[in-house]
Amino acid sequence: MSLVERFEHGGVEGLRVGRFTSRINTTCIVYRIGNTVIDAGPPNQWRLVRQFLSERQVGRLLITHHHEDHGGNGAAIRREFGARVLVHPAGRPFLARGFEVHLYRRLVWGKPPLFEPEDMPDEVRTEDGVRLRAIHTPGHAEDLACYIEPDRGWLFTGDLFIAAKPRYLRSDEDPIREIESLRVVLTHDFETVYCAHRGVVTDGRAAIQAKLDYLISLREQVRDLRRQGVQIGEITRRLLGPEDLLTWVSRGHFSKRNLVEAMARNGSHVD
Ligand SMILES: [Zn+2]
Repeated sequence: MSLVERFEHGGVEGLRVGRFTSRINTTCIVYRIGNTVIDAGPPNQWRLVRQFLSERQVGRLLITHHHEDHGGNGAAIRREFGARVLVHPAGRPFLARGFEVHLYRRLVWGKPPLFEPEDMPDEVRTEDGVRLRAIHTPGHAEDLACYIEPDRGWLFTGDLFIAAKPRYLRSDEDPIREIESLRVVLTHDFETVYCAHRGVVTDGRAAIQAKLDYLISLREQVRDLRRQGVQIGEITRRLLGPEDLLTWVSRGHFSKRNLVEAMARNGSHVD
């Protein structure tokens, strides 16, 4: 079953799509401001994304990062609509040459076709004078970029936010760099967060601050327990509880232990 949900908030349109609709993590949002689209949606939802985008001209697509639920329809959108497709330079090799997509991700999102995107400029302007500035925010992915609209207080976060208190981590994510990226976006003026999975978060600044505080606190707790000689598995159980279905389905690519390990691994990091 596919979900299709349309919404509009403050002049931004959204289309939520996904093959499995039970969790926000298995659905994803394509945002549109005038002729500018932010994120392309997953390849297995192309029919619905194409229908949505066919309503008007598509001038450009900004991809927040290369993951298949965000960049997956990049090639199709360029081919079908003649749109420019822009991504942070660190995302180009992934989109052009490919990257490992685990089985569970192929099941949820499909497999993305390769294509050669363009490097995003520091700022783009839509036909209605909306300005979107890129802020590089690595951690979740090396190439993750948020797009800020400084005049309207909007922040398109891709996968920087998702949840204020995440309890899982992909094995290729770096939560310490994510802490730095959360700090960086908080130096900018914004109020509303447009998250690719959570949706519109109207108290977005407070939500980003809450996530930053949570990760810092979690890092301190992990390090304290490590100093006391507690093993990673036991720390994980104490702080985050037992693993569940998600860990099993992803064969450990997505787990609570990953989060604790990453926090512990960076134990000598000083800031
Ligand atoms: Zn992602």
